[in-house]
Amino acid sequence: PIAAQPDTDRLHSHCCYCSMQCGVDLIRTERDTGPAWEVKPSPDFPVATGRLCQKGFNSLGHVVHPERLLVPQWRKPEPGSTGSGWHQASWDQALDEIAGRIQSIQARYGPDAVSVFGGGSLTNEVCYLLGKFTRVALRSRYIDYNGRFCMSSAAAAQNKAFGIDRGLNVPLEEISRSKFIILAGTNIAECQPTMMPYLLAAKKQNAIIVTIDPRQTLTSKIADIHVPLQPGFDSVFVNALLYVILQEKLYDQAFVEEHTNGIDEIHKAVKAFSPDKVSMYTGIPVEMIRTIARGFAKAESGMVLTARGVEQQVNGVEHTLNFINLCLLTGKIGKPGCGYGAVTGQANGQGGREHGLKADQLPGYRMIDDPAAREHVAGVWGIDTAELPGKGVSAYELFDKIHDGEIKAMIVLGSNPVVSSPNSDRAIDALKKLELLVVVDLFETETAEHAHWLLPGTSFLEAEGTLTNLEGRVFHRPQAFLPPGESMPDYKLICELAERLGRGQYFRFESPEAIFDELCRASAGGKADYSGMSYSRLQAEKGLFWPCPAPDHPGTPRMFEDGVFRHPDGRAKLHGIVPGMPAETTDALYPYILTTGRNGSHYLSGTQTRRTEALMKKTPVPVAEIHPSLAEKLLLRFGDRVRLTTRRGSLVFDVKISKEIHPTTVFVPFHWAGEHSINRLTNDALHPISRMPEFKICAVRVERADRE
Ligand code: SF4
Repeated sequence: PIAAQPDTDRLHSHCCYCSMQCGVDLIRTERDTGPAWEVKPSPDFPVATGRLCQKGFNSLGHVVHPERLLVPQWRKPEPGSTGSGWHQASWDQALDEIAGRIQSIQARYGPDAVSVFGGGSLTNEVCYLLGKFTRVALRSRYIDYNGRFCMSSAAAAQNKAFGIDRGLNVPLEEISRSKFIILAGTNIAECQPTMMPYLLAAKKQNAIIVTIDPRQTLTSKIADIHVPLQPGFDSVFVNALLYVILQEKLYDQAFVEEHTNGIDEIHKAVKAFSPDKVSMYTGIPVEMIRTIARGFAKAESGMVLTARGVEQQVNGVEHTLNFINLCLLTGKIGKPGCGYGAVTGQANGQGGREHGLKADQLPGYRMIDDPAAREHVAGVWGIDTAELPGKGVSAYELFDKIHDGEIKAMIVLGSNPVVSSPNSDRAIDALKKLELLVVVDLFETETAEHAHWLLPGTSFLEAEGTLTNLEGRVFHRPQAFLPPGESMPDYKLICELAERLGRGQYFRFESPEAIFDELCRASAGGKADYSGMSYSRLQAEKGLFWPCPAPDHPGTPRMFEDGVFRHPDGRAKLHGIVPGMPAETTDALYPYILTTGRNGSHYLSGTQTRRTEALMKKTPVPVAEIHPSLAEKLLLRFGDRVRLTTRRGSLVFDVKISKEIHPTTVFVPFHWAGEHSINRLTNDALHPISRMPEFKICAVRVERADRE
C-alpha cells in the first residue's frame, strides 16, 4: 500500500544509498498492472550531474517491497526471547507499553540503563532529535550510531589537523581541476560511482591519478599509478613520501611557516623511512615512491581522498593524519584544485556526526564536555545545564555495557548492528541479554530478530528532511510518498514517545522544518554552524555548504581559503607519525590478512539492497577474493570454496581468484548476514581515540572447504 502524493506525475527526491545523495526524479507511468513509478536521474541537483548508478536506478525496489513493516509488533519481553511469534499492536499500545517498560527499567537501574543506537542514513532532523531525546527525555548518556564504524577516524584526524571536520573540505567540482589526485583506501567506482566523472574530467586535463589499495579495484583501472599496499602499511608508505619531499626540499616552506605547527615532528618521524627501507618492508618499488612524492609536491594543484581502507584500523587516525600531512606540507589546501577529503560512505554519515548523535558530541559539532557548549545547547533546549548527561561510549562499546549489565534496554533506529558490528556474534550475545530491545526499521532486520518491539519506520521517499552530503552540502529532501500502512515518520514517533515519558514539552514539533529551525539555533556558533540556513534557502539555492552562520552568508564551499584553520591560533597541525602495528598480526596458524569492504550492488548491512531483486541478481552472495598464488597453494579447483577461520570463528565462502589482490590478503564484502556475514570474523579491537573498530585487518587461515 504505497501511496503517492495526490495529483503529481513527477516527484523529486535523492537516492538513499550513499553520501553523493544524487537527485532522483520519479515519473508516473501507466503499466498493464496499473500506475507505477520510474526512477530517473534528476538534472536539477548539481552533485551527480544527471547520473545514477545501479543502486540509484533500483532505489525504489525496497520501498515497495512486500516485506515492509506496516504496523507495530511485539513479542514476549523476556531477556533472550527470540523466535516466538509477533503480535500486532496499535501505536498507542506500542508507545504506552514501551514508555512503561523504559520507566520501569530506569526506576530500577537509573537513566543510563536505556541506550540509543542510531544510523547514518537518518535525516539531520532525526539525528538531532534522537540526540535530544536521549539526553532530555531518557536523561541517558548512552547514545551513538553506526557512523562510528564509518567516519570516526577521519573525523578525529581532521579535528586534530584542521581543528574542524568536514568530509571533503572542497566541493566535488574541485576534483576536476586538480592535477594530482591520490586515492587511498577508497573504491569510488563501486561505492560512489557518480563521483567518477569528476576524476575522469581531471584525467582529461592530464591529471595524474594514484590509487593506494591492496586490491586493484574498478577505481584503480583509471589510475596512472596503482600502489598495491598490504593493509596496515599506510603510514609507513606515506612516511616515505614525506621523507622524499623533505629531503629534496619540495615542500611549501612559506605555507608551512605561515599556516602550520609541527614541522619538526615530521622531520623526526620520517627519518627512518627512506624509500629504500620502505620498499624493503612493503615491496613497493623505490622509483614508484619517488615518482609519487615528487609528482604530488611539484604539481600545481593536488588532492588526497581517503576512505575506510585507511581509516578502519586501530591506527586509522594516524594513517589519515599522515595523508593530511601530505597536503599541508605541500601547501595543497584551501586553493583551487587542492584539498583533503574523507569520502563518506553512508547517506548522511556527515550530518549524523554534526547534530549530537555521537556519544561525545552535541549539536553544532560541539564537544559534550565543553562547559560553554553544554550551556548553549541546554539553553536552546530549555533545560538546566546540570541536567544534561555527560559523555557516553562508542557504538561497539554499548555492547560492552550490556554485557557488563549497565545497559538493560536499547532503541535501535535505522541501523542493523547485528550485521555491521565487528565480531558480530558478541554483539548478538549482548542483544539477547536486553530486557527491552526496540527496533525501528522498514523490515524485520537481523537485529530485529532479537527485538521485543518492532516499529515500522519510513523510507527515504516517505519522510521529509535535510541531509548533508560528503561535501558538507546541506540540502532539502521533500516527502514524495505517503508512509505505507500505519508507519509513522521517525520524528513523530520520537516526539510521541517523549510525551509518554513525561518530557513532551521539549518535543512539540509540528514538522521537520520546525526541528530544523531549532537545530540551526542549536548549531549557532559551533563548528558545523547551520544558523544561516532555512528550508526556504535550501530549496531556493539547491543546498548550502556549512559553515553558514547568517541568513545572508553564502555558505562555505571551499574551506581554509583564507589560510585560517580552526585551531585557536588559526594554524593547522602537522603530526609526526610513528607507524603502529595492527591489533592482530599473522602467524603460522593464521598466516593471511582478512580485509573487508563494499560491493557495487549493495549498501551497508544490505537490509534494503538484499531485498532489491535487480541488485541481488547481480550479486546474490559474497565471494572471497584471493590471489592465484594462494589458490595454487590450496590446490583449488574450479567451483571449490574456501573456509576462512579467524580467532573469532569460521565461515565458508565461494571464491574469486584474482591477480588484482595483494598476495597476502583475502577480501570479502560485508553486506550479508548469517553464514555469509564476514563481520562474524572481523576484529573488534578499537582505536584508542576514535573508537573505530579494526574492520580492515585481522589474521586469517584459509583452507579449501569442499573437500575437507
Ligand atoms: Fe545513489 Fe550513491 Fe549511486 Fe548516487 S552514487 S545513485 S547516491 S548509490
